[in-house]
Amino acid sequence: MIIVVLGPPGSGKGTRARLIGQMCQVPLIVMGDILRDAVSEGSEEGKRAKGYMERGELVPDDLVIGLLEEKLRRLNLKRGFVLDGFPRNLKQAEALDHILRDEGADIDLVLNVVVKDDVIVERLSLRRSCPHCGAIYHLKDKPPLKDEICDECGSRLIQRSDDREDVIRHRIMVYYKETKPVLDRYIKMGKVVEISGELMIDKIPDELKKILHERRLFPVDKLTIK
Ligand code: AMP
Repeated sequence: MIIVVLGPPGSGKGTRARLIGQMCQVPLIVMGDILRDAVSEGSEEGKRAKGYMERGELVPDDLVIGLLEEKLRRLNLKRGFVLDGFPRNLKQAEALDHILRDEGADIDLVLNVVVKDDVIVERLSLRRSCPHCGAIYHLKDKPPLKDEICDECGSRLIQRSDDREDVIRHRIMVYYKETKPVLDRYIKMGKVVEISGELMIDKIPDELKKILHERRLFPVDKLTIK
């Protein structure tokens, strides 16, 4: 079961990808997290990626494709995985096809999370995330039980440095220019299901289960939510 989750920044693709990973018990690969880890570790890749990320631009393809390949090599691709934040342009989409083809695997489903642009800016400026376990909060719609502390692992929550309004607007522009063609490509391949990025948070698991069920990716009664 290989699922790619696409959508503009702040669409809620991270929340959905994470839920699918938990429900279906398959690994979740988040390219943004891999890059942020590389930056905080101070690795060569991290040093190269940092400036692009701070400006809300795409990190060069050779770097992200290399990091993804490294990650996938350590997984059993036949067991499946959920991918968030990759591919973000056509070159990356072709690279992913190539990697999967070599392993006799293919993308089963592309979820496209749709949300209005004006919702994105408000949403991202109120987003907080856990640097340790990746849990995502929203100060208005899904605040942590204890101020600034992650409900799941107790770490102190952070606001991402690229969740500033000017950077957010740039990231949205980059999405339409670079990533929208990837979506069009998958639509032509018949792989895309659209979902709203504006559903109340407690309705999301049922919506995801329904889609997975319809696509016969996992019988609903075998899905579990942590
Ligand atoms: P995200 O957490 O998915 O919003 O990603 C944060 C930032 O990481 C993006 O604004 C890009 O700078 C970088 N990034 C994440 N995924 C990719 C990718 N597939 N290709 C290039 N840059 C990426």
